[in-house]
Amino acid sequence: MRANSLIELDRDHLIHPVISWKGHEARGATVLQSAKGATLTDAEGHTLLDGFSGLWCVNVGYGHESIVEVAAEQMRRLPYATGYFHFSSEPAIRLAARLAELAPGDLNHVYFTLGGSDAVDSAVRFIRYYYNVTGRPAKKHMIALERGYHGSSTIGAGLTAIPAFHDGFDAPTTLQHHIPSPYPYRNPAGDDAAVIAASVAALKAKVEELGPDNVAAFFAEPIQGSGGVIVPPDGWLKAMREAARDLDILFVADEVITGFGRTGPLFGVEHDGVVPDLMTTAKGLTSGYSPMGAVLMSDRIYRAIADHAPAGKPIGHGFTYSAHPVSAAVGLEVLRLYTEGGILENGRRAGERFGAGLARLADHPLVGDVRVRGLLAGVELVTNKAKRTKPSPDLGISGHLARFGYKNGVIFRAFADDIVGFAPPLCCTDDDIDTLLARFEQTLNDVLDVADVRAALA
Ligand code: PLP
Repeated sequence: MRANSLIELDRDHLIHPVISWKGHEARGATVLQSAKGATLTDAEGHTLLDGFSGLWCVNVGYGHESIVEVAAEQMRRLPYATGYFHFSSEPAIRLAARLAELAPGDLNHVYFTLGGSDAVDSAVRFIRYYYNVTGRPAKKHMIALERGYHGSSTIGAGLTAIPAFHDGFDAPTTLQHHIPSPYPYRNPAGDDAAVIAASVAALKAKVEELGPDNVAAFFAEPIQGSGGVIVPPDGWLKAMREAARDLDILFVADEVITGFGRTGPLFGVEHDGVVPDLMTTAKGLTSGYSPMGAVLMSDRIYRAIADHAPAGKPIGHGFTYSAHPVSAAVGLEVLRLYTEGGILENGRRAGERFGAGLARLADHPLVGDVRVRGLLAGVELVTNKAKRTKPSPDLGISGHLARFGYKNGVIFRAFADDIVGFAPPLCCTDDDIDTLLARFEQTLNDVLDVADVRAALA
């Protein structure tokens, strides 16, 4: 089938996520066809270095035959096994046990989902259930961060604080609240210690306002991804975790992006030595080879739910595809590649090279801020470095970035507010990293050459 007819069929029938539907009809799809390592090829035969690992998920990179083999073998042997009615399957059991072994602290209980949004949704349901059965049914309000992203389920979209996920969707609910993002580059609080103190004070004030007996949980990404790769100061996560404990609310770390080596360690919370009450994961769990997410739950919460749930009554939360054996087999192989396969280690090395290269780009006239941890990075563009001036929306910077990025053969995420997000695969070679940096620099130079943009910098 010719690419043109695929594009027509796409336009006529395929609804895409998070896009202007009419804008997509006008532009048409870029059809991706194959991939190997960190390189994608589209239907036009154009090759692109994937600096975004698909959607921050293909952490091990493309084309691992060993993953294909375990998936095919599992499909042949047992393509599906329900977790209902006390049934289970070997890959799901082994993956839950392996995650419990690798996760920090006492996060020893795993509920599998199909991705991140339903992991967040499941966490919300478990938290409600926990407080209801342990005799504190008033604890219902949940707090998250401005610029946070917690998926797009009906409930999760309200914890998310990105306007496109609220507008027209009647979100957030009256039980969902947001406090300011730490956002060091644009935080009026000042230095790192002041940023941390301001976040802790904001959480305390919000809990006080809602009434301590009415607040259930605080949700945070260790590094805010979709909100613009906001890297908080060292110690921020620990301070927020301790504040949540002092306030008697649960602390949920949403590791859907930061999990599985994205920031260096296996989980982002390890950077600050934090053990959350619940942790949501997805993406890198299976590296996108098969859909899967997971909620990891502490011994304390698990035990409280198990012991306080009405005797003999089912805890009514479940999905047909929870703990899917093929995804679980994929997850086990992906975890093996991270650890014994050396990909986590390679990711750490590649992260250092990438971070150093991006730091050199900080001198570029368009670059206001570079923030990196491991292989997760954000580059914030400005039209005046000293004043940190956001480019005027009329300049259409994100559109230019996407267009020139494609021309130069590099994929990154051009957020609407002139922040460029990077999440290259952990398998990147030195050459991949150098090529990625060179193509991004070329893209920045191309954007700078647009007459309106150059004039805005003058
Ligand atoms: N939570 C975070 C932190 C995310 O970044 C995402 C997706 O990017 C989600 C939840 C939702 O995951 P999914 O898109 O797999 O539903």
